[in-house]
Parts: sequence; C-alpha cells; structure tokens
Amino acid sequence: MSTDKHSAGYSIFRETMADMTFPELADAAARRAVVLWGLGVIEQHGPHLPLATDVYMPSELLRRVRRLLAEKGVNSVIMPPFYWGVNHVSGLFPGSFVVRPEIMVELMVDLIKSLKKDSFARLFCVSGHGDALHNRTVHAGIKRGAEESGVQAYFVGAPSFFKRIGIEAGDPHVLPTDGEVERPGKYFDVHAGKYETSSMWAVYPGLVKDELLPGLKSTDFVLDDIAEWRKGGEHALRKTPQGYLGDPAASDRGFGEQVMADHAALVAAAIADKVRAAP
Ligand SMILES: [Zn+2]
Repeated sequence: MSTDKHSAGYSIFRETMADMTFPELADAAARRAVVLWGLGVIEQHGPHLPLATDVYMPSELLRRVRRLLAEKGVNSVIMPPFYWGVNHVSGLFPGSFVVRPEIMVELMVDLIKSLKKDSFARLFCVSGHGDALHNRTVHAGIKRGAEESGVQAYFVGAPSFFKRIGIEAGDPHVLPTDGEVERPGKYFDVHAGKYETSSMWAVYPGLVKDELLPGLKSTDFVLDDIAEWRKGGEHALRKTPQGYLGDPAASDRGFGEQVMADHAALVAAAIADKVRAAP
C-alpha cells in the first residue's frame, strides 16, 4: 500500500505524469526514464464494482511496477491511463462506453508521437480489460505508434493472454512475462468475480459495495458458457444478466493484495530484463 499523503489513493492521475510539472517531465526524459501506460475501459462491472474498475486496476499495478523498477535501478514515469477503450462483450450494458477500434488506434498513435516529441524512447503498455477486440486494438495502436514515431513500444502480458487474443509470442511489440498469476478453480472467474473484486477491495475499499457480495451467486461457468458470453452483445446480457462472470462472494482482501503484488512483480521483472538487455 502507498504511504503518501493521499490517504485513499483515489485519483487515476496519482503518481502519473499528469501530476508532474513540465520541467520535471523533461528531466525524467533526459534521465532516459521509460514510460509505463495502462489501457482500460469504462465498462459495467456487476452491481458491486465501479464502471472504471479496468482503469483503477492498471493504475495501481503501474504505481507498484514503478516502485519495483526504481529498486532495480530503472527510472520510469507513468502516462495517465487510457480509458475510452473498446467494449465488445459487455457493450450493451448501461455504463459500457463503446469506441470504434480505429478511433482508439488513431488516438494512441498521436499520444505515442507526443512521447517522442518529449524525447521519451521506450514505452511499456499493460491492459486493464480482458476483451479480445480491445486488446488486439491496443496491440495495433502500439505497433502503428511505434512505426510512425520511432518509440520502442511493447505490450506486456502473460503468454496465455497473447495466445487467447491471437497475437504471436514472437511479435516485436510483445513482451511476455515469465509466467502469470494463476487462477485455479473449478469454474471460470474472468469478469468482476473473485479475482477482480478481491484486488479492487484491497486497493480501493471505498469503491466496492462489499455489503452486496454475500448475495451474489457464483456463475459456475464452464468453457461452453464462456464461448457463448464472448460472442458479446445480447449473448453476454443473456448469459450474465448481473454483469459479473465468476464468484464475487468468495472475494478476500488479503488474496487481492497478493494477486496485485504478484502481478506487479512479474511485469516489473519483464521490463527490467528488457531494459538491461538493451540499456
Ligand atoms: Zn474488469
């Protein structure tokens, strides 16, 4: 947990470039800081979690990654999070904003060019949202942004994640982590379930309606259910009328803290190795 003067850790700008002055930012670029960027969406997350869950989570992840990188001697700065992402699966729910992939790519390209203008040379991106189309769009934005700006840009994630979204592990803009945070369990838990709710609860307790958790029944989904849900739109509305997919009632703050810490360690290690290999 953070120990700074902001008790709740609420602002998504906290510890990002957005709270720095321009001379501080220029100084960071001159010291060859790498840039960290989380890309999420505003999307429904069941009756118990806020719409911006997929923005809050990568924001906290990167604050932790930044501290771990500093311990490893790697300077970094955090971009303000991207939050108008692509919602295919849960796009029909209230509160899920729907942006066309081509618009997201164009915006990403301009933002990466802005980093180049400010003399940043390396960018590491993480996703806060599981939707395959959103993540293929993130990858497309990184690729084009890198090609058009000359910034070295990478999408950091678990090997199984890239496999699921159909992107080759050997892709020049992919940086796989060495392993992943496992999600053991009989049933799938992929959206606003035990994993996501536990981590949100650990980091942003004021944003979780924990009094509702005991009343939320596990969805008990197997592979066929997931395939149907991933078709999105009406299919997702029908399969998960309450919005979540998993077992939020099983959430535990200690478990959420551990998941967050393990994830940050994996991401920081991958980035530090990449920086050491080509300083
Ligand atoms: Zn989420």
